Amino acid sequence: MKWLNRLAALLFGLISIREVKQFLNKYEIVIFDKDDILTEGEPNVDITGLRPENYDNAIDLRGTPTHQCVCGSNIWNIKAIFENFEIATYFIDMECANCGSLATAPTPVDREKME
Ligand SMILES: [Zn+2]
Repeated sequence: MKWLNRLAALLFGLISIREVKQFLNKYEIVIFDKDDILTEGEPNVDITGLRPENYDNAIDLRGTPTHQCVCGSNIWNIKAIFENFEIATYFIDMECANCGSLATAPTPVDREKME
């Protein structure tokens, strides 16, 4: 009876190892640090990271005012002047925060022309 129990335990162990190997071949296990996981409503955007890594794909799109870059990004690096806690003036040349392309910033005058 003692040998039968050991044999059963050995078989169970071998089957378990085989199942674990099949599971690991089929799936990948990814471990995240809780600090690295973004939670909804809590954007983890560092402003210093919002710049292109290089300008290899940058093009000059200036001319027609736009809200979105050809790369799909809608975040722009602009130069602005503040007065009384609001943006008082901004330069119409802007740079895409993702690819570095230059574009023309939209203004209220452009909206009036579109309507
Ligand atoms: Zn872009």
